[in-house]
Amino acid sequence: MVDPSLPSARVPSSRLPVEPRPPLEHLRELVRLPTMSRTEVEQTDWAPFDAFIEALPRLYPALHGALTREIIAGHSLLYRWKGTDDGAPTVLMAHYDVVPATEDGWEHPPFAAELTGSGDDELLWGRGTLDDKGSLVAVLEGVESAVLSGAVPRSDLYLSFGHDEETVGSGAQAIVDVLASRGIRPALVLDEGGAVVEGIFPGVTEPIAVVGVSEKGIVTLTLSVDQDGGHASTPPKLSATARLARAIVRLNRHPFRSGFTPTNVEMIETLGGHAGGALRWVFSNLWLTRPLLLRLFGRLSDETAAMVRTTQAVTQLSGSQAANALAERAVATVNIRVAVGSSVAEAVQHVRRAIRDPRVTIAVPQASEPSPVSPTRGPAWDLLHSTIVETYPGTIVTPYVMLAASDSRHFARISDHVYRFSPFRMSAAERGTLHAMNERIHVATFLRGVEFYTRLVRSLSADQRSGRA
Ligand SMILES: [Zn+2]
Repeated sequence: MVDPSLPSARVPSSRLPVEPRPPLEHLRELVRLPTMSRTEVEQTDWAPFDAFIEALPRLYPALHGALTREIIAGHSLLYRWKGTDDGAPTVLMAHYDVVPATEDGWEHPPFAAELTGSGDDELLWGRGTLDDKGSLVAVLEGVESAVLSGAVPRSDLYLSFGHDEETVGSGAQAIVDVLASRGIRPALVLDEGGAVVEGIFPGVTEPIAVVGVSEKGIVTLTLSVDQDGGHASTPPKLSATARLARAIVRLNRHPFRSGFTPTNVEMIETLGGHAGGALRWVFSNLWLTRPLLLRLFGRLSDETAAMVRTTQAVTQLSGSQAANALAERAVATVNIRVAVGSSVAEAVQHVRRAIRDPRVTIAVPQASEPSPVSPTRGPAWDLLHSTIVETYPGTIVTPYVMLAASDSRHFARISDHVYRFSPFRMSAAERGTLHAMNERIHVATFLRGVEFYTRLVRSLSADQRSGRA
C-alpha cells in the first residue's frame, strides 16, 4: 500500500503540459472495475481482473504495439519495452488489486468513479484512486505518450503490475522469479510508497518528497496458552486467558529499543538544513543533540515513534467459545514491524525475553526481514531526484524508511536500487482514506503524477526521430 503516515503539501505549479481528459477517463474506467483482493484467495471474483487485463490494449494501443506483455501468476502483468542498448534495465511498478469496499459509509460509491467539484478542487472518488491505480495509470500514460512521440528507451524498460499486493504479493514474487531466471539486474526499480508531503518535520515549511529507500520487516507472531478446560465456576489460580493477558502486559512494558538508523540521520541532516534558527542548529549538531532528538521522535507522534524502533501491536485475541467455559486455548496475534538494522530473529527473541513464561508458546506463521537500504547517490537516485524536483519545483527530496510494506521488497533480490515513491501530493484528508472509506484523489494531483512519469520515461529514452539522446 501507499504509506498512510504522511501529511499533505502545497506545491507550486510546474510546466510540462499534460492533456487532462484522456488520462482521467482512463483512470475512471479502470477504477470502475472492482478488482478486490481477498485474504481468502478462493473468494476472489476474477471477472474484474480479466476485464482489467482486456481493457488495457484498447486504452493504450501505442504501448501495446511497442511493448511485449506476459501474464504471470494468473493475473500479474510484465511488460518489456526493448531498449536500443543492453544496459541494465529500469522497472516501473504498481498494483491493480484494491482493498475490498462496500457502499456502506461512502459519500460516493467506491466503484462509480464519480467526479465532484471543479478546478483545483475537482476530486475523483473511488477505491484504488490513490492505492494504486492512480500510479498504474500514470505509468501507462507516460509510456504511451513516449511511444507516440517516437521515443525508444536506451535500456530495457519493464512495467511490473501486481494483482495481489494487498494480500500475499505472489504476483510480484513470481515476476521477480521470472526476471531472476533471465539474469536481469535492474539499475532502478520504482514502486509506490512515499509521497509529496509537508509538516512532517519541525521547522521546515517547504514541501518534502519522501522517497522510501528501504522498508521495515514484518513478523506475525502468535502467543498461545493451552490448558485443561472446565467450568468457569471453578477456575484455576491462573487461567489460560489470564496467563496470556499477563504476557501481553509484560510485552507492552518492554518496547523495543529506539535508535537512529543511517537513513534517519540522512533525513534529519537533509531536512534540518532547511529548518529555521535554533532548530537548524539542533539538527546540524547530531553529535551533541542525538539523545534529545531520539526522545523527541519517540514522543512527537506515533509516526515518528515508529520511525526509530521496531514496533509491536497485539491485533487479535481469542479465548473460550462459551461464556461459562474456561478457555482450553487462548491466543493473541502480535504484529511486529522490524526496524532496518534489526532482524526477525532479534524481534522474536525480544518477545520471548519480555514475556518470560515458557508456558506461553510462541509461533511465527509469517516473517520477512527489513529490506536492504538503496543508495542516495549514483545515477538511479540522481534521476529520481531531478525528476521529482522538475515536477514539483521547490521541493526538498529526502530518503526515509517506509513504515508499511510494498511489493517492491521482493525486487531487493535482483536490484540494489529499489525506491518507493508515489508522485502524488496527498492531503491529510486523502491519506486518511487509504484502506478506508471515501478514498479519493484530486484530479490535479493525479495529473501531476502523470507528468512525473512522462518526464521520467522521456529521461530514459532516446528520441529516434531527432537522433537526440
Ligand atoms: Zn498499494
